[in-house]
Amino acid sequence: MAAAWTELGRSGIRVPKIGMGTWRMGARPDTEFAAIREGMRLGMKLVDTAEAYATERLVGRALEGSHDAVVATKVLPSHMRRDSIAKACRRSIALLGVRAVDLYMVHWPNPKVSIGETIGAMERLVDAGLVRSIGVSNFSTHQLDEAVHALKRYDIAACETEYSLLVRDAARGIIPYCTRNRISVIAYSPFCRGRLFAPRQAHLLSRLGEVGAAHGMTAAQVALAWTISGPGVIAIPKASDVSHVRENAGALGARLSRREMSYLAEAALSERPIANIIGPTVKLVPSLASAYAAAMRLRNRKSAGHG
Ligand code: NAP
Repeated sequence: MAAAWTELGRSGIRVPKIGMGTWRMGARPDTEFAAIREGMRLGMKLVDTAEAYATERLVGRALEGSHDAVVATKVLPSHMRRDSIAKACRRSIALLGVRAVDLYMVHWPNPKVSIGETIGAMERLVDAGLVRSIGVSNFSTHQLDEAVHALKRYDIAACETEYSLLVRDAARGIIPYCTRNRISVIAYSPFCRGRLFAPRQAHLLSRLGEVGAAHGMTAAQVALAWTISGPGVIAIPKASDVSHVRENAGALGARLSRREMSYLAEAALSERPIANIIGPTVKLVPSLASAYAAAMRLRNRKSAGHG
């Protein structure tokens, strides 16, 4: 068995190597509420949300009464200036119903705001007791290095980046950088948004099944075990279906051999990483993200019957 828990960077915060994502939740709040509760019960105590997902209220409700949840949320790129970040953080705290955010991340870099300004504002949020640790997401290695050097009093605890058998770019840049600097990697879309299970991946799926048979694991569990094999790598699959949640929790502590790891990677047909799509349109990201968040808030109000 591999370690099922790790430390978030050097923050002292202990997290399971498999947590839960919540992007694209909100349309079926009762089902999703039950899924998050079940994941918590099974030990996936790290829950990832964001202003942009409009799922902070749902996450807050699902975590009510749990004292060991670790909540990660992210600030929209349009709220990255000193004053707006403090307001955004207080709003997230109110929606989540917590005293402080365990991990507060920059969702995407905003080319109009210096990394130094945002990171400085995040340090003040830690000083004020509103945030326990700082992270970034969708940063290149160069931008991450800039953030690391902009910090004066605290460390970057985590970098959230796309990483799965189908999208492995992080293995060539972000992951080695984070390992060298003791920063946790939070691997998002570990199932490549469900594409891992598509017919196109039949060859990979048959190998996942073959490796799984040797360990008593399912294909999905082996894919998660592959993703979290690095010492500081944590995966945050999203599952609204409670049977998926149970299956994912079953991969906590799983370990594959080096041979199995490369046998699987050899069979994967790579998918274009989302970061490559965001890259060229990065100037549009702040306004796109705000528009997306507004649309999600409206959709969630309607699903909750308040719309
Ligand atoms: P994902 O976790 O790769 O895939 C989610 C899909 O896989 C859903 O359709 C889900 O179905 C299905 N699934 C989950 N467990 C399964 C299982 N055991 N067997 C078969 N299917 C399974 O996709 P994701 O939502 O993109 O990524 C996960 C989380 O990462 C997000 O929710 C979000 O929190 C975070 N994220 C962050 C960023 C960022 O910019 N920082 C970007 C993307 C994602 P059901 O829902 O029906 O169970």
